[in-house]
Amino acid sequence: MAGLYIHIPFCVSRCIYCGFYSTTSVSLQHQYTDVLCRELELRRNYLKEAEDAGKSPEISTIYLGGGTPSQLSPDNLNKIFDAIYNKVFTVNGVPVSPTAEVTIECNPDDITPQFVNTVAQLPINRVSMGVQTFSDQRLKFLQRRHTSQDVGKATDLLRKADIRNISIDLMFGFPQQSIEEWKTDLQSAIELGVEHISAYSLMYEENTPLYNLLQRNKVQEIDEETALSMYDTLIDMLTSNASNTTK
Ligand code: SF4
Repeated sequence: MAGLYIHIPFCVSRCIYCGFYSTTSVSLQHQYTDVLCRELELRRNYLKEAEDAGKSPEISTIYLGGGTPSQLSPDNLNKIFDAIYNKVFTVNGVPVSPTAEVTIECNPDDITPQFVNTVAQLPINRVSMGVQTFSDQRLKFLQRRHTSQDVGKATDLLRKADIRNISIDLMFGFPQQSIEEWKTDLQSAIELGVEHISAYSLMYEENTPLYNLLQRNKVQEIDEETALSMYDTLIDMLTSNASNTTK
C-alpha cells in the first residue's frame, strides 16, 4: 500500500496562527502545476522500485494538502489528476487502487457550484474543510477568509455533488475562550453531520503574527487546566455523539 501527498502552497491570504509554508502569489499556480506534473513523471519509477523490493505499490490514498488546494483552477486540478492517473504511475503498471481515498483540502468559501462541479468530475471522494470555529468574531481574529455561514453552504453543495466523506478541522484554546463557547462550536460541528472531525489546540508558532501578539502581551494563552478540560470535553461530546448515531 502506498500513499501520495501533494502540497499546494498557495493561499489567498495568511491566517495569523499559521506556521505552514504558503505564498499569496496565487498566480504562480500554473507554473507550479506544470513542474509538479513533471516531478511526478520524474518519480515514475519510485513505486516500481517498491514493488521490486517486495512491497505493494498500489496507491490507496491521495491527499492534496496545503496551503489551499481549493485555490487551484479546474484546469490545474485536471492536469494533476491526469498526471497521476493516466501519465505517470499507470505507465509502469502501478495503478491507483479503484477504492483509493482521494482527499482535497478546501477553504469553505472556495466551495462554489463551479468548484463542486469540477470535483464531481475528478476521482476526489473526500473533502477536508478548514472550519476552525463557528464564531465569526474568532474567524475574523484568525484572519480566516470564510464565515460560519459559508461552512453550511459548502457542506450542502458537497452533499449535492455526492461527496459522502467530509472532514472538518476545528481549533480550540483561543484566547479568552470558555468551555461553554467550545461546547457551542462542537455542537455546531456535530450538527453539520460530517463523517470526520479533527480538532487541534491553538499553537503559538514562532514568527507568526499570533506569536508576536503574545510576545507583546496583546493576547494571553488560556491556562493549561482549561485547555485540558477542552480536550476532555471534545472526547466526551464526540464519543457520546458517535454512540448515539450508531444506536
Ligand atoms: S489557509 Fe491554511 S495554509 Fe493558508 S494561511 Fe490559513 S491556515 Fe495556513
